[in-house]
Amino acid sequence: MNCWHCNNELIWGGDHDMEDEEDYDIVTNLSCPKCHTHVDVYHPSERLIKEYEDYDKKPKSFIENAKKEQKELDESYQQSKRNKKDRTTSEKLQEELEPITPCSMSDE
Ligand SMILES: [Zn+2]
Repeated sequence: MNCWHCNNELIWGGDHDMEDEEDYDIVTNLSCPKCHTHVDVYHPSERLIKEYEDYDKKPKSFIENAKKEQKELDESYQQSKRNKKDRTTSEKLQEELEPITPCSMSDE
């Protein structure tokens, strides 16, 4: 395996079992002797592999639906970014219009 950054051959540093991790069972440490990039390779556990297999088995409409939802989320995020300037202005207005103090109702 070569370095992502400089394409030099990576040096294998060792495999470690990951006992506390549910999703990944082995992490392999690699490092680049040329640019000193460090690479950890996480091997999925049986549990995670099964999860992915189950996901692949799901009907396509489910994935299409998830994509659609993601798209809508992105759009609303873009929308909120566009509205940010307006919202800041209206927030200021809100403050001016509502000079309500929380303890105005308490006895003096
Ligand atoms: Zn490198």
